[in-house]
Amino acid sequence: MDCIFCKIIAAEIPCFRLYEDEDTLAFMDINPASEGHALVIPKEHFPDVHVVSDAAIASTVVTAKKIASAINKTLNPDGMNLLQCNGPAAAQSVLHFHMHVLPRRDGDELKLNWGLAPGDMDAIGELAERIRENL
Ligand code: 5GP
Ligand code: ZN
Repeated sequence: MDCIFCKIIAAEIPCFRLYEDEDTLAFMDINPASEGHALVIPKEHFPDVHVVSDAAIASTVVTAKKIASAINKTLNPDGMNLLQCNGPAAAQSVLHFHMHVLPRRDGDELKLNWGLAPGDMDAIGELAERIRENL
């Protein structure tokens, strides 16, 4: 299947991995909308919220909570969004169900359709290591 997140799960393409269990994987977003932007996905492929299984969405939310807590300890942001997008109008660009863990800063004025701009891979890798230490 031509799904970038399934390829990440299969380790066919690399990622800055934060956490993995039997059902879910968490890793850094390489086009971060904010410092510490991470993604959590079920290992089973479902395109969106309309078809994801109850078990897969439940395990993804539990992992997102764990990741949010570790990012909070690492970066102490002013706030955090857990966000999930479905369909082009909602700016879903990868058709494998996922949750964004988005640390926020006062006044950052982050727009929900934030656009994709590549991050600094060295900085993202270093931050992933710091977040893993807080898991
Ligand atoms: P969506 O727009 O579908 O809600 O979010 C998809 C996210 O996946 C985007 O924030 C985008 O930066 C991220 N993304 C796309 N391709 C890759 C990739 O190859 N590796 C990683 N780590 N993130 C990706
Ligand atoms: Zn997939």
